[in-house]
Amino acid sequence: MRVVGDRKAFDLIGPTRCELIAESDKQKLLDRLGEDPLRDDADPEVVWNRISRSRAPIGKLLLNQSIIAGVGNVFRADALFDQGIHPERPGRELSREEFDALWQRLCEFLAIGVRYNRIITADPETIGRTRGRMRKGERLLVYRKVTCPECVSAIDRWELGNRWMYACPACQS
Ligand SMILES: [Zn+2]
Repeated sequence: MRVVGDRKAFDLIGPTRCELIAESDKQKLLDRLGEDPLRDDADPEVVWNRISRSRAPIGKLLLNQSIIAGVGNVFRADALFDQGIHPERPGRELSREEFDALWQRLCEFLAIGVRYNRIITADPETIGRTRGRMRKGERLLVYRKVTCPECVSAIDRWELGNRWMYACPACQS
């Protein structure tokens, strides 16, 4: 949930459930979570196995916590844009090369997020400023944007997986 006022903005990221559980239940819970791109021991092979067999849109699969843990709405939109992959493309229509590049990008984006404590997907060279000096509105690629940063087409916005999805109809296929 985001609360934006004139001078301040808050991102409220709260747990969806909070309860005391036994150690065995904790393991079951962790087993239900997919691979976490931030972890060194994350196994992209497991993720590829799920995605390459699914007819579901890749934009929806990226939000499925049982496949990949930790990819939120902003990362999915901007990583897919960055790789030129349209969010409605079925998972099984991604090539192995596309998946590998997408996974790599997600790992980088999430690591940058941890390092700067905010989501930054824009390229410092394109913006002409270091990540630490980027201004508000410069840090993201297509998320909540009106026009494409590459080709100036109007950005499409629609609901995918119950969240707003953003994509460029010209740059992503
Ligand atoms: Zn474009």
